[in-house]
Amino acid sequence: MRIELATSPGDPQRPNEDYVSVALPASGVGGVLVLLDGVTPPPDEDGCIHGVPWFTARLGGALLELSGSRRDMPLADCLSSAIERTTEVHRHTCDLSHALTPQSTVVAARWDETTVEYLVLSDSVLLLEGPDGAVTPVLDDRIDRLRAAGHRLAGLRNIEGGFFTAAADPRVAGRAVTGSTPRDRVRALAALSDGAGRWVEVFREGDWSQCFALLRKEGPQALIDQVRAAEDADPTGTRFPRGKAYDDAAVVFAQP
Ligand SMILES: [Zn+2]
Repeated sequence: MRIELATSPGDPQRPNEDYVSVALPASGVGGVLVLLDGVTPPPDEDGCIHGVPWFTARLGGALLELSGSRRDMPLADCLSSAIERTTEVHRHTCDLSHALTPQSTVVAARWDETTVEYLVLSDSVLLLEGPDGAVTPVLDDRIDRLRAAGHRLAGLRNIEGGFFTAAADPRVAGRAVTGSTPRDRVRALAALSDGAGRWVEVFREGDWSQCFALLRKEGPQALIDQVRAAEDADPTGTRFPRGKAYDDAAVVFAQP
């Protein structure tokens, strides 16, 4: 088994709002990976005294624990319970009805000898590499479709017809892209926050297959290093327009 992960803040002066972790059960069979990308609110405009890094660590930790210990529960149910658990911790101190209450994208994958299950919510990506080396991205493409249709994303968060992030309402788990595939159809898998996925989606260094090949050969840190170099080379976003010049980045690569 080979598992590697890397994460780095877009701005070293600010806390990293991405979260990435892996759990391997004591049985020695299978594993779980979880990757979250917290949504950055304007300063002091999220109604929460804890902040986004606290939220992603809480939610990610709960999701990892539930996915690993409750293998009888589908990943969407694990996410729903993890949101519920996180909400419960700060419902009395924070305004969780706030539109910008701490929230994040979610990728989770769980494997054993027979099956790989996965869940993707919002714009982080899961890559599955087949036995022949073909790479299949698993994407929740709601944001891309809204952008392509000319919509502005403000006001479309967590509403019908818009896009969905994991915030305070556990029912959002039902909006996630979920599926499963036989274990022997997956040679390796990787998850990336959009700050790392911009290697493909913004800087066009290669497609998802080439991105996966880089991860396999040189590991997650090398991918993040290449993203940072591309950001440094275009700090004002002139050549490669993007929301943030630098973004938090997280990557996990797993070859079970
Ligand atoms: Zn809070």
